[in-house]
Amino acid sequence: MASTIRKRLLLISNSTQHGRGYLDHVEAEIRDLLGPARRVLFAPFAMLDREAYEAKTRERFEAMGYRLDSLHRVADPQHRVEGAEAIFIGGGNTFRLLKALQDLELVRSIRSRVADGIPLIGSSAGSIVSCPTLKTTKDMPVVEPASFEALALVDFQISPHYLDPDPASTHMGETQEERILQVLEENDCPVGGLREGGVLRVQDGARQLGSSEGARLPWRSNPERRSAPCWLPRHWPPNDFEGNPAVQSVRCVFIAHARRLHQRSRVRLPRTG
Ligand code: ASP
Repeated sequence: MASTIRKRLLLISNSTQHGRGYLDHVEAEIRDLLGPARRVLFAPFAMLDREAYEAKTRERFEAMGYRLDSLHRVADPQHRVEGAEAIFIGGGNTFRLLKALQDLELVRSIRSRVADGIPLIGSSAGSIVSCPTLKTTKDMPVVEPASFEALALVDFQISPHYLDPDPASTHMGETQEERILQVLEENDCPVGGLREGGVLRVQDGARQLGSSEGARLPWRSNPERRSAPCWLPRHWPPNDFEGNPAVQSVRCVFIAHARRLHQRSRVRLPRTG
């Protein structure tokens, strides 16, 4: 695992929020994460039509004032990763994405750049491959990667597009919660369900869950270590934070508050590596 306090990650549940444009709901987070970086290296491999994905993503990043280079075009992708200022891994099919990263031998180079401190944004499938494995994907295995081993930039799994079970539903297929529990039956790895609109930010050695929709906190499969599932408030951070809504904009206080909330609920976020 890329284990350094310099890691800067923004892991997004979904790239498009219902009723809004591509990446609109996370524009402020993206700008904040990228800081002075002006050039973003894009991994479009989760989609079959890489040109179309590149064009859409370039247009969006250019509108924010960044240049975008797509890894599928470059002659030596490893070399480009080594010189990247920032990386964006887009969503789509997680198997296709991981296979491409493995085939191009980019797994180690991305890990190493993240350990160097360059910012990385993952969206949906891009967030899953930032985890240790792709075992929390909901996608069909349309291609076969060499292994399920992914980038391991964090030490827990994300299940994006997390949909709360609907108690009134008559649908008999597995809910996302049941799928996550199946992961936990076989693996001792925390899993966090990130609702649509949710983002997970890793910076300065701390984790911060931020979203208007909250997230389901990590579960553990080991019964000894399993905490009761707990929900972050839907409106995050809550308005009554220490009676002063202004402090919500202070990032470190936000992180501290997230930690306190976990302690109060006796649910611990895993530490960053
Ligand atoms: N197919 C999803 C995406 O990238 C990933 C997942 O939820 O498994 O949008």
